[in-house]
Amino acid sequence: MVAGDAGTSWAMALAVPARREVAVNAMDRPGDIPAPLELDICSRCAGCGPTCCELSPGQEELCFPVSEMERHRIVEQVGLSRGAFTPEPNSRAFLANLRHLFPREGQALELLFPDAGRHLRLSVTPAGRCVFLRATGCRLPRPARPYYCRLFPFWLAGGRVTAFAAAGCLVHRQGRTVAGMLTLLGSSEARVRELHGRLRLAWGLPPREGMPFVTPSPARFGT
Ligand code: SF4
Ligand code: SF4
Repeated sequence: MVAGDAGTSWAMALAVPARREVAVNAMDRPGDIPAPLELDICSRCAGCGPTCCELSPGQEELCFPVSEMERHRIVEQVGLSRGAFTPEPNSRAFLANLRHLFPREGQALELLFPDAGRHLRLSVTPAGRCVFLRATGCRLPRPARPYYCRLFPFWLAGGRVTAFAAAGCLVHRQGRTVAGMLTLLGSSEARVRELHGRLRLAWGLPPREGMPFVTPSPARFGT
């Protein structure tokens, strides 16, 4: 465990693998990790595997949700969507994971992800690999990736920047502490906070805990 550890990582999106950088959206860029640094370490990770972009078959329900806005961005930038997303019931295990990520916002999460409802997630192969994962990493340009992918292995807990406990993650192993991991990736606490706020908005939560909750949010779900 590193200082400020956010706990066990959520299934898949257990990390953000290497990617080919293409056109960058100026609005998104401030929260991103500089391409060469990320490319280097996440490429190596994707080469050895398993990476954060894989889950154990049978645990698909634990995959993070993809909001309508994130789905649109992928479709617009990559020009495909067929088979890339899978509707998934809002199961108890899924909700439990969400509550772990946002421990003081259970009520809002129940409204956003009601019992009988469904959300979208990324599709995976029978082996549990994200359909966008290639041997050299994610095939999506960074600005098109879901926010959770772009944040990993970082998270915000109790207002502090933390890191998930992800034993196989090279960033984790080499950076050792949250500060070391941020330095390794050329990122910063400010960048993590900004991306975390964007993810919250996309998933239907206010940008910061304690701010007014607005629902329904057009960014929430695809189903
Ligand atoms: S180094 Fe970590 S963040 Fe990068 S691909 Fe591997 S598990 Fe994911
Ligand atoms: S979209 Fe890319 S970064 Fe996200 S889980 Fe899939 S392969 Fe990994």
